[in-house]
Amino acid sequence: MDDRNGWGRNRPEPTGPTLDPPESFVEQANVTDTSDDQPLGEQFERDWPDCWERAADLLTWDESYDTVLDDEDAPFYEWFTDGKLNAAYNCVDRHLEAGRKNHAAIRWEGKQGERETYTYQDLSVAVNEFAAALRDLGVEADDVVTIYLPMIPELPIAMLACARIGAPHSVVFAGLSADALATRLDAADSEYLVTCDGYYRRGDAFNQKSKADNARLSVDQDVETVVVDRLGDELPHVLGDGESDYHELREAFAGASVEPVSRDAEDMLFLMYTSGTTGDPKGVVHSTGGYLAQVAWTARSVLDIRPEDTYWCAADIGWITGHSYIVYGPLALGTTTVMYEGTPDYPDRDRLWEIIDRNAVDIFYTAPTAVRAFMKWGESYPDSHDLSSLRLLGTVGEPISPGPWRWYHDHIGNGECPVVDTWWQTETGAILISTLPGVDEMKPGAAGPPLPGIDVAVVDEDGNAVDPGQTGYLTIPRPWPAMVRTLYDGDDRFRAEYWDRFSDPDVGVWRYFSGDTAAVDEDGYITMLGRVDDVINVASTRLSTMEIEGAIADVDGVAEAAVVGRSGQQGGTEIYAYVSAASDRDPGETLRETILERVETAIGPIATPEAVVFTPELPKTRSGKIMRRLLEDIANDEELGDTSALRNPEIVGEIQSERNRS
Ligand code: ATP
Ligand code: MG
Repeated sequence: MDDRNGWGRNRPEPTGPTLDPPESFVEQANVTDTSDDQPLGEQFERDWPDCWERAADLLTWDESYDTVLDDEDAPFYEWFTDGKLNAAYNCVDRHLEAGRKNHAAIRWEGKQGERETYTYQDLSVAVNEFAAALRDLGVEADDVVTIYLPMIPELPIAMLACARIGAPHSVVFAGLSADALATRLDAADSEYLVTCDGYYRRGDAFNQKSKADNARLSVDQDVETVVVDRLGDELPHVLGDGESDYHELREAFAGASVEPVSRDAEDMLFLMYTSGTTGDPKGVVHSTGGYLAQVAWTARSVLDIRPEDTYWCAADIGWITGHSYIVYGPLALGTTTVMYEGTPDYPDRDRLWEIIDRNAVDIFYTAPTAVRAFMKWGESYPDSHDLSSLRLLGTVGEPISPGPWRWYHDHIGNGECPVVDTWWQTETGAILISTLPGVDEMKPGAAGPPLPGIDVAVVDEDGNAVDPGQTGYLTIPRPWPAMVRTLYDGDDRFRAEYWDRFSDPDVGVWRYFSGDTAAVDEDGYITMLGRVDDVINVASTRLSTMEIEGAIADVDGVAEAAVVGRSGQQGGTEIYAYVSAASDRDPGETLRETILERVETAIGPIATPEAVVFTPELPKTRSGKIMRRLLEDIANDEELGDTSALRNPEIVGEIQSERNRS
């Protein structure tokens, strides 16, 4: 047992029984290991970094690259140097040239029950016309265009139009405030904005334009603005100076064609902010070549996407998941990508299952927070639809504990679809840790091994690898193509956030620090345990909040749990648990006692919560993650930190008063 650094407890086996991928899946999978007697990972290892050429081969290059990886100026790595390509060409034009113009590219499901299909030809027309319009408004290569749109087809169209003319886009999640938009316009010095009049939220028309107006008023630069008329007469708006109507522009440039601008592999494709779960969001810069290559490769190998599939990632394009796995990855592979506007429970709690049924969706990718909600709502919703078209399920965004994993596998996948638990970040651009669904066995609760070509080290404070089963910091010792190139806030913050802690530049050692903690087992499978800040030190033992939460969530009748530390009266730290009960359960004394007992048996008396506070919902970021820092402030009776990234601010007061009663 190693307790040099206080991590020193042997963790219990984090996972339940393992599962092999079903034979029927393996037979058809994009990636299997039958081609060589070496496991795929080792094949990749043998020729690293040249193994990444296989990812680059999925793209069409205008000029091929000279060097796969240039690490001269680490940690400012360059990938596929001197290669040239255009992302929009790769996502649209080349599929037309391959004779697939009538294949559906985007199937859109609107909030009011509207449905639209864009074939690759339709998408090409829209992207070309809007690219011509943006140029006419003055957008040149390298100008940052900010896009502030909800989940409507004009969002990916605008992104691809930018990519076509070499203008990096900066998509701002539509639900963010005017202030958040202004900060982002400012940080990127962006002089162009694409937004809309408004959109529907649970059936009500909601004004987006007024938020955009306020943001424009508070930045120094003039911002040329394009407005998509989403609501028509429902929300009349008047265009002012420097504003144009999206549909009128499209008409003015009807039939236009714009030559895709050949970009350097290292040219910026887009800017994207992190979710703001742990504090101030970080503005991440992504490249064109490395990003697109790795996103296409992972979409093919992990999500098993084929052109003839109907693939659905139910995230919002306003976050990295949507950029990589609604837009760029699936479209680069020429598949049909579904995008939906709205929420899983409107008009009813079977919205998602209805969409899967009607579109015969093959692959479904969502977040654990959604899976926990589905569990809470009960099986009758999915059971009333035919989900037999599904072949693969995925999750991203938070750890998924074995209970919800099994529920997803059994009730959505009918026990027949592999589930991939994919770990990655805004900064990593693409999935780095996951099982390959046609190759690896699944261990519910563990994300899986690092993907081929990826190196992961779980280390202690001093950067030494911890033993299997021990908890440590998740670091990435070798670069990867889709990695963040720098931050908006500059190179210094980039180094400070990700590199300083575990690198040793004097001896040329660079190691990316993810900010997450994890444990690795004998087979190299990685169990994510949460953020560095999500570790609670009780009587010199470091306890992972995720582990305690997992134990609580396993209790029948619990929907979700979040655990934080609170400074106790005698100076030590106490554990505080916030729990939301399943909809058919009474959150009362019995449930509280079962929870306490379960934690004690699963982890030990040291982990038993001092208090269990029941709440109808947990506070979540707009990308669906539990905001623990806020719960910690509430537990400690401290002033609340920045709550602007919060989706359900109304819950905070409720939790505060509930806490004061407990
Ligand atoms: P911020 O960096 O601003 O605090 P954030 O980290 O939530 O926000 P994202 O980049 O959207 O912003 O999320 C990445 C994080 O999500 C990871 O660092 C990890 O903590 C968590 N995560 C993503 N996928 C998984 C997964 N499969 N298992 C466990 N955790 C995951
Ligand atoms: Mg983060």
